[in-house]
Amino acid sequence: VVRIEALHKSFGPLKVLKGIDLEIGQGEVVGIIGPSGSGKSTLLRTVNRLEEPTSGRIFVHGEEITRPDTDIDKVRGKVGMVFQSFNLFPHMSVVENVAVALRKIRKLPREQADAIARRRLDEVGLLAKAEARPAGLSGGQQQRVAIARALAMEPELMLFDEATSALDPELVKGVLTIMSGLAEGGMTMMVVTHEMGFAREVCDRVVFMDAGQVVEQGPPAQIFGSPSSPRLRDFLAQVL
Ligand code: ATP
Ligand code: MG
Repeated sequence: VVRIEALHKSFGPLKVLKGIDLEIGQGEVVGIIGPSGSGKSTLLRTVNRLEEPTSGRIFVHGEEITRPDTDIDKVRGKVGMVFQSFNLFPHMSVVENVAVALRKIRKLPREQADAIARRRLDEVGLLAKAEARPAGLSGGQQQRVAIARALAMEPELMLFDEATSALDPELVKGVLTIMSGLAEGGMTMMVVTHEMGFAREVCDRVVFMDAGQVVEQGPPAQIFGSPSSPRLRDFLAQVL
């Protein structure tokens, strides 16, 4: 589904991504772990075209999304992203938050967009909150709305950037359960996470990044059970 080729990204003199090559298959769930500042968020943001690569190419279903003439709205429709800070529109109701892109980008009429939005809210267990404002929801509920919003566009790929890091501990599980359900349902996912339990149990493959490079990758059992690079061993010693 996704092919990342020789991806480099610099901010001025700072080299943040130093040649990332990664392929992700249909329905594969790839966990991305690594120390702070290693470039995990920058990698995801580049896949969603929130950042322009300095060089390298990214393909989604064979279509190069890094071409300068790519329709960015179309990319964002294919590639859904969920952030640590839910980024909901505070002045819109929950259902409007989920429906807005369907209306503005998909150009669906309001009734149709709202019907899809309500279906998605039902899937994340929040149909009852459809008319509420985001501020009236817990962080976990807001994050579930953000997931529903991304899913409403029927993405081919979902990106999660520390989706549970800003949540109170008791709210983390509900969001992880929804992410696991998506994974089981066959969604292709790139998941940056500090939740090593999730990476171990839900991900098909775990990628360890350090200093802008993929240092090691493999099935969770291998990454967590028999890491071969010293940098990964150090990292795991700190987080586990
Ligand atoms: P964390 O685990 O803390 O979220 P990360 O692996 O997601 O870290 P990135 O956010 O990708 O790391 O950042 C990698 C490096 O790029 C950092 O040194 C960061 O300061 C720098 N960086 C990220 N975005 C920008 C930007 N827009 N302008 C300048 N530097 C940036
Ligand atoms: Mg980050």
